[in-house]
Amino acid sequence: MLDSNYFIINRHAQKFSDMRLTPNAAIFLGEDGRPLDFGILPLRNSLYAALYCDEVRNVTLITDRAGVHNVVTILWYTDEGYTAGLEAMRRACGLTFHRQNKKLNRYAESVAEKLDEGVRLRVTDEVDKSDMITCPECGMLNPKGSTYCLDCGAEL
Ligand SMILES: [Zn+2]
Repeated sequence: MLDSNYFIINRHAQKFSDMRLTPNAAIFLGEDGRPLDFGILPLRNSLYAALYCDEVRNVTLITDRAGVHNVVTILWYTDEGYTAGLEAMRRACGLTFHRQNKKLNRYAESVAEKLDEGVRLRVTDEVDKSDMITCPECGMLNPKGSTYCLDCGAEL
C-alpha cells in the first residue's frame, strides 16, 4: 500500500501533498508547499495521451515537448484524492482519458519509445477480450453478440 501520493517522472518518484491547476499547467507541491523537481506539468498542447487505472489509482500522461516524449505518473493513496484528481485533470487537459489495466506505466513507456522513433501510435482504451469475439476470417475483435464482423463482414 502507498503511504503518500507520488509524482513519478521518468522513473524518478517524489511524494506530493497537493496538486494545483492553472489554465496551462498542473503543479505538484511537496510537503514543504513548493513545487517538486519537474513538478510544473504543462497541459494541453504538451500532452500526447492520458491513461488511468482505477484499481491502482494511477493517472499516467505521455507528454510531448518538441517531439520528445516523457511518461509522467501520478499515484494517489486515497480513493477520494484519486477521484478528485482524475476529474480535475480531465477538465484541465481537454483530451480523452483512456481506461487501462495495471500495466499502464509499461504501456505508456512503450508508446513513448515508439513515438520518439517516429511511429505514431494511437492510444485507446484497454479492450476487455472476454466481452469480444474474434473474427475467424480476419482476426478483428468484435463486440459479443455481433452477427457479422465489423471489419470484413464475415459471419461470426
Ligand atoms: Zn472479419
